[in-house]
Amino acid sequence: MREALQLLKEQFVEMVNEDQRIAFFYAQNSERIVSITVGSHGDEVGGFAALGEFLRECVVAGYFQRRWPRTSFLVGLGNLEAALQNRRYVERDLDRSFGTPSTQFLEERIAKIYEKWFAWTQWNLDVHQTVLPSRSPFFIGPAAARVRSMAMQIHPEIPVIGFPAGGFSVDGTPLDDWILYQGNVSVSVEMGQKGFHEEQIRFGKNLMFRFLDEAVRGFSQTLSQSPRILEKKAVVRKTPGLVLHPGFENLQSIRKGEVLGISQGGDSLLAPESGFVLFPKYGELAACSSELCQIVGPVDAMPAVYRSSAIFSEALS
Ligand SMILES: [Zn+2]
Repeated sequence: MREALQLLKEQFVEMVNEDQRIAFFYAQNSERIVSITVGSHGDEVGGFAALGEFLRECVVAGYFQRRWPRTSFLVGLGNLEAALQNRRYVERDLDRSFGTPSTQFLEERIAKIYEKWFAWTQWNLDVHQTVLPSRSPFFIGPAAARVRSMAMQIHPEIPVIGFPAGGFSVDGTPLDDWILYQGNVSVSVEMGQKGFHEEQIRFGKNLMFRFLDEAVRGFSQTLSQSPRILEKKAVVRKTPGLVLHPGFENLQSIRKGEVLGISQGGDSLLAPESGFVLFPKYGELAACSSELCQIVGPVDAMPAVYRSSAIFSEALS
């Protein structure tokens, strides 16, 4: 990717910050600053690969300026230190470290660098991968109309999961939420299980093209209603001895009352709601979290239109 960055910068006045984490491609007469961030979680390496592929295809003389005129472009490479160690983070989750005055931990210091640059971006796409397999890629971001609308314009089919703005995690503020506080718009995309997977890398690259195309059009449509919009219906909290049944994947459908797991005493843990399992946790991951999974579902009662959507058909069959 360094090679792609090097070539791309010939088309722009370029600034790279002191630790090579951020590249800024300044376009003359800029009307917007659009940004893509990857690697907020270091071991979600597919984002680096997708960005590399995206940049490689842009590196044709004048391509970027022709396709996306008057557009400055900001790239963030996230937690490089953790990526090099193939870990989610080194000292503290970077994507929970925004907007805090603390500089105690490495990731809080990285967040300070990000805050300087990303306060200016109107549109941001933050690329992630899930720990466990996912039935479909999905967007996740603050449940704000502008965020949803942006996500639905970037991709017409995949689910958009909203969490209450300012309420994603008790552990701290993620980048997309922080950018929303600045009056701008950001959404995260989860491409699928972490790692270098060809299909995901292609998906991520295509998504980046669509994101820039729509950003240049100013995300001009206002989309607010869709059966693809999901929100948190229930949280399965961790209690001592409680474990999920093995094999749950992201966006796997579940019916209310279906067995989710088992308690130490042998009691079955039943799904409190119908919907889709999100962020199931096992082993070490479960040990350091206060919850075992969430269940998300459509904002309103499941309308008939769901039947036409492949991702939802399983839940209805
Ligand atoms: Zn992530």
